[in-house]
Order: sequence, then C-alpha cells, then structure tokens
Amino acid sequence: MNDKKTKLKNRLWMIIAFIILFLIFYFLAAATVEGVIRTENITLSGSLKARAIVILVAFSSAAVLLATMYFLLLRPLDKINVSVRAVAKGDFSVVVKHNSPIPGLKSMRDNFNIMTQELLGTETLRNDFVVSVSHEFKTPISAIQGYATLLQNDDLDEKTRKKYIEKIVENAENLSELTGNILRLSNLEHQEIISEDLFRLDEQIRRVLLLLEKEWEQKEITLDLDLPRTECRGNAELMKMVWYNLIGNAVKYSRQGGTIGVRIEQKEKTIVTVSDNGIGIEEKDLGHIFEKFYQADKSRSSGNGLGLALVKKIVELHKGRVWAESAPRQGARFTVEF
Ligand code: ADP
Repeated sequence: MNDKKTKLKNRLWMIIAFIILFLIFYFLAAATVEGVIRTENITLSGSLKARAIVILVAFSSAAVLLATMYFLLLRPLDKINVSVRAVAKGDFSVVVKHNSPIPGLKSMRDNFNIMTQELLGTETLRNDFVVSVSHEFKTPISAIQGYATLLQNDDLDEKTRKKYIEKIVENAENLSELTGNILRLSNLEHQEIISEDLFRLDEQIRRVLLLLEKEWEQKEITLDLDLPRTECRGNAELMKMVWYNLIGNAVKYSRQGGTIGVRIEQKEKTIVTVSDNGIGIEEKDLGHIFEKFYQADKSRSSGNGLGLALVKKIVELHKGRVWAESAPRQGARFTVEF
C-alpha cells in the first residue's frame, strides 16, 4: 500500500474515532446534565446553555483523548512503520526517534535501532569484502591481459616470449590460489562443527616442511626444529593448512640465510610455535594481520592477505587460539594453542 493511501486511511480512522469518542462523552455528560435540569427545574434558556456546555465538554474531552492517543501511540507506531519500510527497501541508516513513555514502544524503538546498526555493520563488511575481492582479482587479470597483449608481437625473441608466458602462468596461479582461499574461507565461515580424528602432528608438520622445501632451500634458510612425537585430535586436513600458511609466511618474510624455528610443546593443550628472524611486523599492523585481505606491506607480499584469516578460522573451529608477537626487523613468532 502506498503512503498516500495509508495516510488517508489513518485520517479516516481518526475522524471515526473522534466521532465515537465525542458521542460517548456527549451521552455521558448529557445524562448527568439532564438529571440536574429535571431535579433543579431549570428554565428553557438555562437548559439550552447546559446543552451547549455538554457539547463543548464532549468535544474537548474527545479531542484531548484522541490527541493523547495520537502522540503517545499512533505517531511513534507510524514512525516505526516508516522506518521498517525503509529497511525493507535496503536503507539501514534509518534511526527511529520518538519520546513515547510507553515501555513497549520504547523497547521496540531501541531494539529496532540496534537491529539497523547491526545490519549496517554487516552491509559495510560485505561491501568492504566485495571491494577487496574485486581489487585482488583485478591485479592478476590486468597483468595477464597485459602480457598476453605483449605476446601478440611477432618480433619478440624467444627469451622475452618465455618471460611473458611465465608471468602469465604466475598470475594465473595467483588467481587460482585466491579463488581457492576465498572458497575455503567461505565454507569455513558457514561451519560450526568439524569432523575430528587422531593424527600425528609432528609427522604432519614435517610433511608441510617438505612441501615447502623448494622455497626455503632457495632462500638458504636454516631450520631449527623441535618436533617430538605428538598425537593430536582434530581435523588433519584443516590443521595442515594452518602449518602450511604459517611456515609458508615464515619463509616468505625471511631474509636470505635466515632461520625458521618450529616447535611442539605438549602441556594441558598442544602448543605449536613458528618463528622466524625476518622482516617482522610493525605494531600498528599486528592487531590486523588476521583480518581478511589485510597485508601490512603489499609491495613485499606475493599473497592475497587471506592466509592468516584462514588460520584463525581453523584454529577457532578447533576451540583454540592463535596469536602473533613481533617487532619490525626482528622477526615474528606465531603461536597456536589447541
Ligand atoms: P599474505 O598472503 O599477504 O601473506 P597473510 O594473511 O598470510 O597474507 O598475512 C597477512 C600479513 O601479515 C602479510 O601480508 C604480512 O604483512 C604479515 N605477516 C604474516 N606473517 C608474517 C611473518 N612471518 N613475518 C612478517 N610479516 C608477516
């Protein structure tokens, strides 16, 4: 129903309510006055005056009652109604303001405003996510487009041609990793429970180190390992992703010839630390690195800022926690407790 029709209907109801109230007050006052006229034997002009007063009293009582109802009940309800319609159309910035003292209406106003605040927060998050995803996709796609255009030149020598093809493959790999990470994160975000089994944590970490062998060998990195036999309960596939991201980052942000430490400690809980003596993280970034798409220094990262968000989500699904300690140029240490 459109606004005009609703307003018209409201007015009609107000007029009907006014007439009903007026009649009730009129008959009440008239009955009282009629009795007085009969017992006191009042003259005709006196009785006419009394009737006029009855009409006036009935009119003003109906008007006062209706105005009170309007300001205390109908107007606040109308404001809430208009705001609900705005939310239905996707405008979450509406705030309901009314001063009705009726407790039910007050709490309806407060709850409505809390709801729009939360919806606004989710909307901002979603928009930020879309902007970040679009940006992350744009970079490799533009690069692929650029190198493919360059490859169309028939005069290119074999070495340059190979270099451009390598760049295209590299950017396609980035795109594939990005989509994979987004899908994984999105799946995990809708997951509350994970399937768990027993697995050998020390063996799993060693396997991850082997997977990353090419990378740490290229940087001539020394490994400092303390991986005692440890049996663990959890989702082995997901936990493998945690070590792959943390050790992968340690290699990525290490300098040539650096050292990476990986340690397992079995206390009340299992504690794994991954440390490096690489570039480190500034204090202002430390509180944000687990956020989606956050990259402290984009120019130094070849990733997409989703690795640590994945790590955090997986660890939380295991009812554990992960945190980082670091100082610029002094390396970083990530601890997982689960
Ligand atoms: P990325 O794909 O950029 O590595 P991550 O989510 O894995 O994304 O990490 C987020 C950011 O945290 C990185 O961009 C980097 O700035 C910082 N970071 C993560 N691990 C380390 C580390 N071991 N040393 C220094 N900085 C790190």
